Amino acid sequence: MAVDDPSDLIPKADEVLFLPLGGVGEIGMNLALYGHDGAWIMVDAGITFGGDDFPGYRVMMADPHFITARRERLAGILLTHGHEDHIGALPYLWRRLRCPVYATPFTAALVRYRLAQAGAADAPVVDVSCGERFSVGPFGVEYIGMTHSIPEPSAILLSTASGAVLHTGDWKLDDRPVVGRRYDLARLHALRREPLLALVGDSTNAVVPGVTGSESALFEPLREVAEQAAGRVVVTSFASNVARLVTLARVAESLGRRFGVIGQAMERMVAVARGAGYWPEDLPALVDARHLGFLPREEVFAACTGSQGEPGSALVRMAADRHRDLLLDPGDSVIFSSKLIPGNERPVEALQTRLRALGVEVTTDTDAEIHVSGHPAQGDLARLYGWIQPPLLIPVHGTPRHLAANAAVAEACHVLQVRLMRNGDLCRLTPQGARLLGSVDSGRLTVCDDGRLLSVPSDLLGQMRTKVH
Ligand SMILES: [Zn+2]
Ligand SMILES: [Zn+2]
Repeated sequence: MAVDDPSDLIPKADEVLFLPLGGVGEIGMNLALYGHDGAWIMVDAGITFGGDDFPGYRVMMADPHFITARRERLAGILLTHGHEDHIGALPYLWRRLRCPVYATPFTAALVRYRLAQAGAADAPVVDVSCGERFSVGPFGVEYIGMTHSIPEPSAILLSTASGAVLHTGDWKLDDRPVVGRRYDLARLHALRREPLLALVGDSTNAVVPGVTGSESALFEPLREVAEQAAGRVVVTSFASNVARLVTLARVAESLGRRFGVIGQAMERMVAVARGAGYWPEDLPALVDARHLGFLPREEVFAACTGSQGEPGSALVRMAADRHRDLLLDPGDSVIFSSKLIPGNERPVEALQTRLRALGVEVTTDTDAEIHVSGHPAQGDLARLYGWIQPPLLIPVHGTPRHLAANAAVAEACHVLQVRLMRNGDLCRLTPQGARLLGSVDSGRLTVCDDGRLLSVPSDLLGQMRTKVH
């Protein structure tokens, strides 16, 4: 059955529908819809960055046309965590969606800031806590604490009279996450007794054997690398990884160096983390970025953005010798506590070449164990599937290669069924498995320089897909 413009598509009282519009077969732009008893809810609304090859398409997101066309049936938006590929589209789409947004406090604080910047400070963002059960339209909702590379990542259990779905969001199993709580092992174990129809889960790291390392394992290797440095130490990592920033602050303290962060995104993240109680009170006060340049070189330990060679980021400007607060000299060290995201090879290589040309010592995650992923490797996926024993896995958050790898792990763990989907596929979830009902248009929107949203032409979309896959 084709449902290209199913204006009468109303979820029936006894069915649970799943319709991903973004994030399946690609990394980024996560946006999923679940339908039940006359209503829809959205889980996450993220963006992705077009990269160098598509300069006119800097920021992209899933086209939510399907749901904006039936907005009166959208009961709410649930956010799993605060990464841009999960919340970044909200400021752009808010005017079209206008419904309550639910998130844990740290994510809610990030979202409120972004919405206010976009002139939508009136958006109703509701703080929820893990373990609390509440209703959104006809769905029972429960956030379950996980671990990832940002505070307060949550899996979401959606319950209906016709069965439940676990939407994992991004996760890893970190027993010592440095900040925040450990994942809720007891609740994850207990999910086995829920009437689960499906587990919709993260595939990002499913091609990697073994288990993903803990954030807490990075202190020693980072300390060893930084200890070798004679001049300034500058570490670049993702701004949102608060645990990593805390580890860096502790490394700096242990080496008798003064710690500061450079770059607006990182400063804001530390402020939000402090407000939410995630910045340890016992750490020495941060040195203001403007003062770092005046300290003796051997006392400087700075964290900054730019690990992916992003134009305009702090590290890119330092490498070009035109940062307002800190310039680098021969003998200084730059440590990449990050991984190279596929697609960013060119800007990152150019950045590292420029740094080396300045006489700066460059260390990356290929030289030392100074980065861990935020996503589950095969061993972690197998543990989760063993605990929960879902009857059906729907792999999401990955390219087709990642989805297939996640499917293979599930099959090895005797998960009874796996359903590989594409963006726009509409499935009915039943105790017997997922039944494909058809597909809806799943285009892309891009943000123009003047802030307008435009559809990405379908021929270009084809090229992008080829590149992503
Ligand atoms: Zn994430
Ligand atoms: Zn993600």
